[in-house]
Amino acid sequence: MLFRSSSIHRKILTILLFLPGPLLAQEAMLISNARLVIGDGRLIESGSLLVQGGEIAAVSSEEIPAPDGARVIDGGGKTVIPALIDGHTHLGYQSGHNWGGHNYSPENLRDNLEQYAWYGFAAAFSAGSDAERMALEFQQNQRERYPDAARLLFSAGMGPEGQGPNDAFLVEVAAVAERTGQMVLHGLYDPEQAVIEAREVAASGIDFIKIWVDDRGGSQRKLAPDVYRPLIAVSESLGLKVFVHQQFAGDMPDLLAAGAHGFLHGRLGDAFTAAIAEQTAAAGAFVVPNLGLGELRREAIGDDPFLRAVLPDASAAGLTGAGRLSAGDIVRDEEREAGLRDSLMRLLDAGADIVLGTDAGALPGHPFGYTGHRELEIYVRLGMSPMQALMAGMSVPAKHLELDDLGLLAPGYSASLVILSANPLDDIRNTRAIERVFLEGREIDRDAIAARLSQVE
Ligand SMILES: [Zn+2]
Repeated sequence: MLFRSSSIHRKILTILLFLPGPLLAQEAMLISNARLVIGDGRLIESGSLLVQGGEIAAVSSEEIPAPDGARVIDGGGKTVIPALIDGHTHLGYQSGHNWGGHNYSPENLRDNLEQYAWYGFAAAFSAGSDAERMALEFQQNQRERYPDAARLLFSAGMGPEGQGPNDAFLVEVAAVAERTGQMVLHGLYDPEQAVIEAREVAASGIDFIKIWVDDRGGSQRKLAPDVYRPLIAVSESLGLKVFVHQQFAGDMPDLLAAGAHGFLHGRLGDAFTAAIAEQTAAAGAFVVPNLGLGELRREAIGDDPFLRAVLPDASAAGLTGAGRLSAGDIVRDEEREAGLRDSLMRLLDAGADIVLGTDAGALPGHPFGYTGHRELEIYVRLGMSPMQALMAGMSVPAKHLELDDLGLLAPGYSASLVILSANPLDDIRNTRAIERVFLEGREIDRDAIAARLSQVE
């Protein structure tokens, strides 16, 4: 009897495992005959990729036989890339046309991260402006509650007491702390207290710290070396990584010597010397060049169909008129371009890691996801190869953000990938040619996301 009932039980379980709907992620999927950009510089010009149980099961330049019942996608003429990663953003503040701390909520984090997913991003790193408990809870539940959202990563934010972000952002960050009663920005005043803050962050389960080392054009005090040095040292011993907002390249050598793991603004230009580039590479630290933040604000990006698709009308209007230039009217300062190009080449020549990051959301109208694709274009304009640019949004940020299942098309990695209808190695703008986005083996409904986001008030 016992035998019999357990075998019936097993049969029921088997049936449950093959139910459609929410269990689709468990289904096998084969993409055949596609160009595969692996994510670390390798390329399979024509190959197959097998997904099982939400993971990549096999990648091959040969044909892989389709398992029984597998969904088969003909990848002829298409390019598959690992879903992208934005290494510097500020989630929760932008909602539709409206920007500020009053928007910060789990629902708005979901909206922002669904926008990232629409643009083919698997993860986004929010840099020091999050309500810590809310963001932790979001992280813990996101796979079940928000399956269409890119993965939330975030850091604790720290700066001299009452300072850090620029004045306009600081007010909004303080408003989030006030309204939620949660820690957003840790004020630092001496070395001992800084060490205590780092220990508290580690105990709360947060993996990263972002520090602001910037005098904001003389309006704020800089974070002093005698505070950040012990903070970085103790963070290292606790397994936390410390990333830096620094205003000047000249601050980088001491921060690197102190053990900083990365820089969220490149500060490219003449002050970014070969010696700094070499020290960055030797330390294994990364640099986010963050070039679009300066230039996209001067462009009529609201006219761009690739942005318009997810944009409410009011946002589009705000990002089009008022002195913004259409693509054809933009004239670049050649001297400045040459300076940026030279310093970016110094970083590449030194072998330093370049991480894609946008600072999206830190100020009104710097849209999530869209800005990442634009940043890749800027990298290529300034001399990176399309493959180098793509790696900056794939395996390189995955390494620095401890994402050991993202950024590569390789067995055992999450099946978080994008199918493009055109080859980004021919023209980096082809990262826009998104046909399908899969997060952890599950295809997201891009039309539904765009329809919803474009209606946000
Ligand atoms: Zn930022």
